[in-house]
Amino acid sequence: MLIIKLKTHIMHKIPLLFLALVMLFTSSTHAQTSYTYSMVIKGGHVIDPKNKIDELMDVAVNDGKIVLVAKNIDAKKGRQVVDAKGLYVTPGLIDIHVHFFWGTDLQGTYRNGPLALPADGFTFPAGVTTVVDAGSSGWKTFETFKKQTIDRSQTRVFSELNIVGEGMAGGRFENNIDEMDAQKTAEMAKKYPENIVGVKLAHFNGHRWEPTERAVEAGKLANIPVMIDFGGADPYLPLDSLFSVKLRPGDIYTHCFGGDDGVGINKLNGREQIVDIKTNKVKPFVLKARERGIIFDVGFGGASFLFSQGTPAIKSGFFPNSISTDLHTGSMNGPMKSMPNIMSLFMAIGMPFKDVIAASTWNPAKEIKHEELGSLSVGSGADIAIFNLREGAFGFYARDGQVKGKNRLETEMTIRNGNIVYNLNAIATPNILPAAPQSNKPIKEH
Ligand SMILES: [Zn+2]
Repeated sequence: MLIIKLKTHIMHKIPLLFLALVMLFTSSTHAQTSYTYSMVIKGGHVIDPKNKIDELMDVAVNDGKIVLVAKNIDAKKGRQVVDAKGLYVTPGLIDIHVHFFWGTDLQGTYRNGPLALPADGFTFPAGVTTVVDAGSSGWKTFETFKKQTIDRSQTRVFSELNIVGEGMAGGRFENNIDEMDAQKTAEMAKKYPENIVGVKLAHFNGHRWEPTERAVEAGKLANIPVMIDFGGADPYLPLDSLFSVKLRPGDIYTHCFGGDDGVGINKLNGREQIVDIKTNKVKPFVLKARERGIIFDVGFGGASFLFSQGTPAIKSGFFPNSISTDLHTGSMNGPMKSMPNIMSLFMAIGMPFKDVIAASTWNPAKEIKHEELGSLSVGSGADIAIFNLREGAFGFYARDGQVKGKNRLETEMTIRNGNIVYNLNAIATPNILPAAPQSNKPIKEH
């Protein structure tokens, strides 16, 4: 009996002894390999327009932040190493025109409705880490949008509040001037300054200036820019008046290459063009508007880009300040597809790669007054995109034609807050699974 008891006693001790040995071993192993960085990105060509970097550089990340951009950072100091040889490393893309107020109100269109999209599935595969939802919610619906999308997305989601209280809930709201309350819009913007970066006017059809005026008034009250999707009018409202009288420097004119005043290829949308298609020149008042500080944004969308506008503008050196998608169910699988696709399209019509990257990173960061974003500055959050600039025969189209291109940007990797959130070709060592979002609580506060 005693022998048996003694045996049992020893048997119980063995696992404890084993555990103690394992703990000793792992702690000493850990001590030997204490890493300086959580991640080192090796051998990539860094393009960082803010810091004027355009050369082979390594990037080190720690604690969610960029801590070093330099030649030859020791890979052994990184817990995770990304092989970016032959690839381009840029700041995470910023897309300032998307529609992510997805929901189940079947009449809601882009406001809590089926025409909008959930964020993370459409951002990270495209190298996008920050988006601005362009007016899908208004002051009456913003808090629902915040709860459903902003707080539950790994993507950093900002909002431009629609001047229409309901947001983009269809013509009965969007074409109703009584729905446009500058005071209430500004109050909501001031209540959530960390989320709301602008005011949006969209889809108003009619020969009236009040919608623009109310949006700008809200922008003034909250001290934030407005983004104008100019709707349509017959005869069209003159863009010169919009740019030189109604808008302020820093205000954004989206769908800038989408105007079709009836002399265009397909159909009248009642909006003046910025390029005179008889002379193929950017109209002089547009150049003056740019000098005054009006921002020209792409907002490519389902049908809001025309080669007859974009190509002559690019050829003459008039580049958009920002490239943005206008991403929604109607554009996601059409000519637009994604940021890298339209960035490649702009390269195909003559916009230099470096300028394309600036228009997708640092420029939009400045436009939304978030200059802590859009660069690889040391100390900034580690939102990084890695691209393969493929060479070959590629094609791009829009509603008025198509072009061939020699390059296509393909997203290899997206890093958000120092974590790999998209990894196409397993180029990290080790390749680890991204954290799964939890379904029953907000992922994080942004
Ligand atoms: Zn839009």
